[in-house]
Amino acid sequence: MGREPARGRPGMVTPKDRRPPSVDVRASAKINLHLGVGAARDDGFHPLETVYQAIGLHDELVATEADALRVVTHGAAYVDVDAVPAGADNIVARATALLATRLDRAAVADFLVHKEIPVAGGMAGGSADAAAALLALDRLWDAQTPDDELLAMAAELGSDVPFALIGGTALGTGRGEVVTPVADSGPWWWVVVPSAAGGLSTPAVYRRFDEMFPGADAQPAPADRLVEALATGDPQRLGAVLHNDLQEPALDLRPDLADLLDRGETEGAVRGLVSGSGPTCVFLAESPTAAHAVAAGLRGGGQEVVLVAAGPVPGAQVVEVG
Ligand code: ATP
Repeated sequence: MGREPARGRPGMVTPKDRRPPSVDVRASAKINLHLGVGAARDDGFHPLETVYQAIGLHDELVATEADALRVVTHGAAYVDVDAVPAGADNIVARATALLATRLDRAAVADFLVHKEIPVAGGMAGGSADAAAALLALDRLWDAQTPDDELLAMAAELGSDVPFALIGGTALGTGRGEVVTPVADSGPWWWVVVPSAAGGLSTPAVYRRFDEMFPGADAQPAPADRLVEALATGDPQRLGAVLHNDLQEPALDLRPDLADLLDRGETEGAVRGLVSGSGPTCVFLAESPTAAHAVAAGLRGGGQEVVLVAAGPVPGAQVVEVG
């Protein structure tokens, strides 16, 4: 929730000053180092105990003052921007409507979203865009909404949106929306492999979880061992306790991912893991050099898009005010 950069210097008249005001925000992808999932409650939600980490893979959103609401999305070549809904279903539009209602003003702004976070990839790309939109509009409209109110609105938009605001490394409980920062002796180095075969629907992965584990405990698996390992700074210790209860259902829906996980570990990764509900896979490496070696090995084996990212990094941050 960084809000540092100030608006341009007063008194200077440049062509830039004749453009409508705009705010540029960067928001990070998340991975789940621990994702404990409890049995579905009566309201259909699964209680979670998760440890999120924000990593250096970002979407960037520029919000500009306008008379109507418009969201234009583009992205890196590996991002399926056609799968991002236009209009009122876009989470950026939902975030705009929510903040505008609270501030009793018109829900209008022009958004340009550049996505590097895979769509429906288990890395909370939509949540990152929602967090970015809340922060950008709060600044654009000079609303100075208190952090706790921004976090409450974020939770209304989606379980992962509060974490997308705060970033770093955090424990998530409830549906994942109750976030508490945890100590982290990183940086940790990750190799990230987005799926070339399209995304996975998060609700579909939870449905498969329910089918595969009808006797799941009501209480999600606790994250204590993961939190302890984070404090050691030792990739071997962390690798040994990475945990994702959605990995089996994701692999059941996408059996090809099991081979990918094996290959990354054969190429020297400490441990491979499905990210959240998948299908993106992430691999923990011993060092930056080791991460690049694993990435090169996976590319050599035919994997086209292989990224290297470090975590933890901050959550949504204002990078420019124009
Ligand atoms: P999570 O890990 O939070 O469950 P995800 O990373 O798997 O989510 P997202 O990229 O957040 O998936 O997208 C989930 C769905 O949200 C998409 O399939 C799409 O229909 C919808 N969506 C709405 N707005 C956006 C947006 N701005 N960017 C991406 N997807 C969006």
